[in-house]
Amino acid sequence: MSQTEENLSLSPKIDTLAIIGAGTMGHGIAHVAALAGYEVFLFDVNAEAVERGVMSIKRNFAKGIERGKVTEEERDRAFERIRATTDLSDMRAADLFIEAVPEVMDLKRETLRRIEEVAESGSFIFASNTSSLSITEIAKASRRPECVVGMHFFNPVHLMRLVEIVVGKETSEGTLTRVREVAARLKKEPITVRDVPGFASSRLGVALGLEAMRMLEQEVASAKDIDTAMELGYNHPMGPLRLTDLVGLDVRLKIAEYLHGTLGSESFRPPEILRRMVAEGKLGKKTGEGFYHWS
Ligand code: NAD
Repeated sequence: MSQTEENLSLSPKIDTLAIIGAGTMGHGIAHVAALAGYEVFLFDVNAEAVERGVMSIKRNFAKGIERGKVTEEERDRAFERIRATTDLSDMRAADLFIEAVPEVMDLKRETLRRIEEVAESGSFIFASNTSSLSITEIAKASRRPECVVGMHFFNPVHLMRLVEIVVGKETSEGTLTRVREVAARLKKEPITVRDVPGFASSRLGVALGLEAMRMLEQEVASAKDIDTAMELGYNHPMGPLRLTDLVGLDVRLKIAEYLHGTLGSESFRPPEILRRMVAEGKLGKKTGEGFYHWS
């Protein structure tokens, strides 16, 4: 048996996904997974967050139906496959756990440890949706680091095609093969990236976003005009400040702090305006105000 075949026989075929964290990203991943035919658990420590997540999935399906992207039958079947829960042990039979909890290393590690306590399968895969944290470091919390990998989805998950698959030092070929299969079934385009801070997408995307904030601080132009410069001048579908509003300013701040600390480059030092807005609770679309007003 080749090494890959041997690894694959250790990695289960994936039928059931458990999503941990039902916020911006978690509910989106649950949506695409159920639509692709997986059995899905959607877990959050906060019962209201689970409810909000399920409501958001409903809303996004309704828009999809309006636009002719999905049928009512597909929505109904997808909904039957989603089980929302606040009890981690409900998800013990899952084959693939995808965490989308806040961007804090200790929280990611603690989540992984708790899953290893409840999971029944000795061969489940744990994927982190982290935007920047080291998969190798997260995997140190595991007894099976070869089964830990990054699956970095993009917001909004049901519309964005990219998944960045992040390969930790110990991630096995079998694990990579399985998560690539999942990405394909979710109709996503995977890219494979070595585990360096910020991977490929966040490092470039965050650098642009932070520079746009510094330009706003220096009154170079309004938020709208800075965004329009990138949209019309560089064909970006969305300017960096509007995108930051969608991502969440708190999420972006945590990533910037981490990249500044690990890569050392001044490009990643969080601008004052970002710290101030986060302290004021202006987190972007999810709180109704960021660089723009959202109703
Ligand atoms: P979010 O704040 O919208 O949601 C996080 C959810 O996790 C909340 O509902 C919270 O109640 C829940 N949570 C907190 N502690 C938990 C725990 N111990 N167990 C289970 N649930 C817990 O955050 P988000 O924007 O969805 O980001 C989640 C992850 O995805 C982060 O690592 C972030 O960097 C990454 N990410 C975010 C985006 C984005 O655009 N927002 C894009 C790609 C990746």
